Amino acid sequence: MQKISIPKKTTFYTYVSPIIINDDRGKEFYFYQWDNDRFNYQLFNLPKGKYYSKYPIFLSDVNLEFAKIPNEPPEKDDYLRIKKIYIKEGNNPHKASIYIYSYKPFATIIYDKSLNEQPYYVKDFILAHELGHLYYHTEEYCDRFARNLCLSLGYNPSQLNKAIEYSLNNFTDTSNHRIIISKSDNYFTSIKTAQNYGR
Ligand SMILES: [Zn+2]
Repeated sequence: MQKISIPKKTTFYTYVSPIIINDDRGKEFYFYQWDNDRFNYQLFNLPKGKYYSKYPIFLSDVNLEFAKIPNEPPEKDDYLRIKKIYIKEGNNPHKASIYIYSYKPFATIIYDKSLNEQPYYVKDFILAHELGHLYYHTEEYCDRFARNLCLSLGYNPSQLNKAIEYSLNNFTDTSNHRIIISKSDNYFTSIKTAQNYGR
């Protein structure tokens, strides 16, 4: 086991397939099987964090950037107005929701505590998706936004494919997935009713 601690997105290479990297909790972080018969080595990224690699990996001089599908033009302008995002753990059957207040310069994301048991790429992807709702109504555009953001943070495409699969299978109801709270709504009552938020 090789211990890795990096302060920002970093590109590595390896000669060994598969790549097996766990996070600081011992959970799967990155598992990637590549064709060692065709290629001598494989480049990949890791985001800021602490990891354990089963096989030796090496720092690369290359700054690996995976191709992105450009984000759609924003459908809404909340991102211009919102100055701060609070991220809170709770009970949320929809896994995560963002509460955007039409009259306040902040938004709150409440994610279900079960996400703490998931690989970091799942949790980060879902939080990034919620941030996407500052720009978009369309779920698909939020997924694209999240994918691009996570690639910038140092995640690899295969991790994000798994995260998208997880969120498609676990977001049971998208109607409550993003909620705009107007001035007349009571914030906590709304959360309690809509999300069964345990306070
Ligand atoms: Zn959404």
